[in-house]
Amino acid sequence: MNELILIRYGEIFLKGGNRAMFERALVDNLRRAVQGQNARVERTHGRMLVWPGEAGAKKLVRALERVFGVSSISVARVLPREIEAIYAAAVDEARAASAGQKLSFKVESRRADKRFFPASPEISKQAGARIVEALGLPVDLHHPQFTVGIEVGFEHAFVFAEHIPGPGGLPCGVSGKVELLLSGGIDSPVAGYLMMKRGCSLSATYFHSPPYVGEKSKEKVIALAKKLAAWQLADVRLSVVNFTAAQKALRDADPEGRLAVVLYRRMMIRVAERIAREHKAQALVTGEALAQVASQTLTNLSTIGEAAGLEILRPCLGHDKLETIAIARKIGTYETSIEPYDDCCSLFVPEHPETRASLEAVQSIESRVDLDALAAGCTVEKLTIPPAR
Ligand code: ATP
Ligand code: MG
Repeated sequence: MNELILIRYGEIFLKGGNRAMFERALVDNLRRAVQGQNARVERTHGRMLVWPGEAGAKKLVRALERVFGVSSISVARVLPREIEAIYAAAVDEARAASAGQKLSFKVESRRADKRFFPASPEISKQAGARIVEALGLPVDLHHPQFTVGIEVGFEHAFVFAEHIPGPGGLPCGVSGKVELLLSGGIDSPVAGYLMMKRGCSLSATYFHSPPYVGEKSKEKVIALAKKLAAWQLADVRLSVVNFTAAQKALRDADPEGRLAVVLYRRMMIRVAERIAREHKAQALVTGEALAQVASQTLTNLSTIGEAAGLEILRPCLGHDKLETIAIARKIGTYETSIEPYDDCCSLFVPEHPETRASLEAVQSIESRVDLDALAAGCTVEKLTIPPAR
């Protein structure tokens, strides 16, 4: 059987020049997703078509399901534009989809070539009648258990019954670049995913404090970056910052330690901002969620944000932890994130940290150190992390 993969995207939201840019980026990303598999990606009237090579459609679908901007996917039969052949294929698709059960269905038709006769409503009606006659299935136009799709293009017709959801969002790259502060936790990889889903391409910065934080923590972050790279369909540039000296200096300046996490986070922001600018990234991204822990109260988030000269995006801000966990599971980062290795933020921190760190209090401690020298003294190891297979 001759088959092809039909890709739908959120065309209704797109207008003018945006649309052309979006479609170009989507084609590029689809090509990258199926690279090396001898498949051909083609753009037609409000759809993308992927012609599979010898590997067959099924294997490609798994890769295409991960491309942002894709709203849904169908593996379709490819037919000549002959109406009887189309009706027969609709019956075959309905037979396969219902698998012997009395499932309700409807038929939806669409013609890219408006000169094709009969018109779409008539095609749906006739195909539906054939299915009722051959299989005795009930029609339900409002809540069908499956839908048979018929699309008539300029060269072929496509018939399918399967609709596989895509991740939605916008193709990676169309919204510009961001720098993710990536820890080994659950939240920051999800934050990175959410920004990629809105069209951002991502590089990441991880703050590492050896020997207090072990090599295992760094390996965990590298594993997470690999998973994010797979969603991005491109390498992630990971900057590993040696944060030990800066953390010690801040600890010595604030022996009581109640402001420690806020001080560390402000320093992270300064260093990440420098790296972001090198990468031409326009914003920083963190996994902070409002009031989840002491450092994430509204007051502390403002005090942290004050250190930034770039916008800080916090896409998990309004999530419950359980919502973030559900996304982490879906995108495949959860299992890695829960490996029990430390993060540098828990170093030299008292049991009851300050939940209302005023800017004055923080700045008074910062005045005891040379902030610029501390930030400049953080050495950075640059890694290129390829997508996980
Ligand atoms: P996560 O699960 O992402 O670690 P969290 O809920 O544990 O988040 P924190 O540990 O307070 O919260 O960190 C808040 C945010 O600060 C993280 O989401 C991340 O963006 C950033 N961050 C914390 N530690 C590091 C680190 N070692 N390197 C880079 N970014 C970090
Ligand atoms: Mg954490």
